[in-house]
Amino acid sequence: MSEQSSGGDNIRYRNLYESQGKIYTRKISGFYQSVRRYTGLPLIAAFLLLPWLLIDGRPAIHFDLPARQFHVLWLTFWPQDFMLLAWLLIISAFSLFTVTTLLGRVYCGFTCPQTVWTLMFISVEHFFEGDRNKQIKLAQQPWSFNKLWRRSAKHSVWVLIAFITGVTFVGYFVPIRELLSGLFPSPDPDTGILSMAVHPVAAFWTLFFTAATYVNAGWMREQVCKFMCPYARFQSVMYDKDTLAVQYDAKRGENRGPRKAKDDYKADGLGDCIDCSWCVQVCPVDIDIRDGMQYECINCGLCVDACNAVMDKMKYERGLIRFTSVDELTTGKTNFFRPRLFGYSFAVLAMISAFMYTIVTRTPLSVDVIRDRGVRLYRVSGSQIQNVYTLKINNMDSAPHTYNITVSGDYPFQLKNYRPVEIEAGEVFTIPLRVSVAKSELDKEKTPIQFTVVSASDASLSAIEESNFIGPMPRK
Ligand code: SF4
Ligand code: SF4
Repeated sequence: MSEQSSGGDNIRYRNLYESQGKIYTRKISGFYQSVRRYTGLPLIAAFLLLPWLLIDGRPAIHFDLPARQFHVLWLTFWPQDFMLLAWLLIISAFSLFTVTTLLGRVYCGFTCPQTVWTLMFISVEHFFEGDRNKQIKLAQQPWSFNKLWRRSAKHSVWVLIAFITGVTFVGYFVPIRELLSGLFPSPDPDTGILSMAVHPVAAFWTLFFTAATYVNAGWMREQVCKFMCPYARFQSVMYDKDTLAVQYDAKRGENRGPRKAKDDYKADGLGDCIDCSWCVQVCPVDIDIRDGMQYECINCGLCVDACNAVMDKMKYERGLIRFTSVDELTTGKTNFFRPRLFGYSFAVLAMISAFMYTIVTRTPLSVDVIRDRGVRLYRVSGSQIQNVYTLKINNMDSAPHTYNITVSGDYPFQLKNYRPVEIEAGEVFTIPLRVSVAKSELDKEKTPIQFTVVSASDASLSAIEESNFIGPMPRK
């Protein structure tokens, strides 16, 4: 990316439309690289294994779109539970605000799928093509057997990882065993023609996510973070001067310059930075943190590891580049007790508690009562006044249930001709109901009435719904 200075005003301009060159990253080990590995591995393992895990014979997590059921472990959610999803997204957003206010973009650097998959793809690249310098050399070489097999092997493993990712992702929507066996064409027993058993839509999305993973983690990498991810753009709003982010201690590092380990560099007017550029060479987004905080920085800490390794070699104190705050760099102290941080944390804790309470006390049964709004408000049958209702019972449990219905209110209401029926798991059952009361009992034109629906096999599965009973105007 070319940079230009504007005549003496120290403002640098970057041409964002210029094509981006490939970034060759230097292999580095250290504390933050290990943290990235150990946060990435469980996330990848959970992503890969969850669709294979069966609970009561069905996948532990299964978003069954045709049936409009969302199975998460032992719970089944329905479109009616959409509010819970909305709350989950709000909680995630607030958690992100809290963590970003405290630790900057650590989500990006350590747990974002784009970063985790890119790290995996870079490890494969390092394995087949070697470290940074070897990769640059290989790229400059003309095509040879050595270059061909290394590139082919790298891309084959990338495609394999991308395919596993695509299958796993779609496996959250289509049972993964069926998906995997159905994706490979087999001959039709009658015609002998090769065909896939899986639905073409599932096959399309598997290929789509395979291609997206291969392109995003293999080719686009940092460009997704820089130009496509909206989070990079608004993160600065959440930063304050006490946010811990990867920063270069310019007071200690400048003036930068090369020297020998045994030189009295301070006497030469130099700071601790030996200008080796390792911090730039390891950076997955190709920035120089010594230029100050930049929106591209994903707070991955790799430059911290690189610089610490250099400091160790030079026998200087570690931490020239470190997780620190603007306040600490200027005043020597970070203030962790900030009202904004407390506000976010309190909001997140309150929302998580309310969310958990809702999940734990949630009844997988919903009932709707609609009063018959026919021409007549009520019917007269001998000495009885009758109202007609339509009850919609939605059995959101994973097992079938037979429900008993009772009515109650200010008068001795009676339910006519209701025979309990079994309602399948996930079924919405509509029942017309007639409720009757002796005319002599009524002394009001309109009175509230409650319908109580209880499972015959599980009394905790119950719902109460209210409506009104309409009768004739009482005589004065
Ligand atoms: S790794 Fe450390 S010493 Fe080397 S250039 Fe970067 S800041 Fe300076
Ligand atoms: S500057 Fe450092 S922390 Fe930021 S992205 Fe580059 S290597 Fe990671």
